Amino acid sequence: MFQVIFIGTGGGAPSKRGLPAYLMKKDNFTALLDCGEGTQLAMIRNSLNVMSIKLVAITHLHADHVLGLPPLIQTMSMYGRKEKLYVMGPPGIKELLEESFELTFFKPDFPLEFVDELTLGEIHVTPFRTCHVVPSQGYLIQERDSSNLDVEKLRREGINDWRIMRTLKEGKEVHWEGRTLRPEDYLIKRRGLRIAYTGDTRPCNEVIRAVRGVDLLLHDSTFEAGVNAGEYGHSTSVEAAEVAKEAEVRRLALIHISSRYRDATELVKQAKRVFPMSFAPSDLSFLNLRQG
Ligand SMILES: [Zn+2]
Ligand SMILES: [Zn+2]
Repeated sequence: MFQVIFIGTGGGAPSKRGLPAYLMKKDNFTALLDCGEGTQLAMIRNSLNVMSIKLVAITHLHADHVLGLPPLIQTMSMYGRKEKLYVMGPPGIKELLEESFELTFFKPDFPLEFVDELTLGEIHVTPFRTCHVVPSQGYLIQERDSSNLDVEKLRREGINDWRIMRTLKEGKEVHWEGRTLRPEDYLIKRRGLRIAYTGDTRPCNEVIRAVRGVDLLLHDSTFEAGVNAGEYGHSTSVEAAEVAKEAEVRRLALIHISSRYRDATELVKQAKRVFPMSFAPSDLSFLNLRQG
């Protein structure tokens, strides 16, 4: 199971909604995607553990997506963090952090490692190109596929020997009573969960390709239909829904809602006409994502 915590679902300027920040949690793995101003306050005030974050992945260097990161790292250091923190981001992310540390007379007590992609345990995180007005990238978070033995089928065929089961589970053939048992006949494949986050983007083919078939897509949905979102490198909720439909994703979270809207009711209504599995999460809400 993956837990997605929508910390800040607004964009541009803060409103009732905070600036972009999303937590992706599975077992010991926690990634923070984007870190707008106010992220650490929202986390600490709501008992979300900032120390458990293993990876921070920034989509682009617009202030609303990144300026919460230098203070978050300072807090981790003050809390006595020693564990390495992985950081991903567009060109300039390293310089932004290093220069802000230098100018604020600060040096973290723990290592930062800047990486282009990352595999930690069963989770793989890779960037994909997005279509904003500055260099930008989205992120795909994938859980490794797994397979379980079809124990019922084995039982029906009178196979109870755990050594046979283990060998099949390892993906190897077994010769048994004159028969060859092939692993593919006894393994039930389970595809790992996949989540994609676009950050700020226009609807574009690069994004559609990268997010194809994901279980949850968090897509830029800054404006209502009728606004020329392209002028700002953003998307309307209808455009987000069109991407979700075209890419055949399972669910769509409408995020980066402009502060000009008091609530997202209209944006959701418009999106649902195109892609019924659309919703607009509120700040600090969460979604538990399961297989199937
Ligand atoms: Zn933004
Ligand atoms: Zn932006």
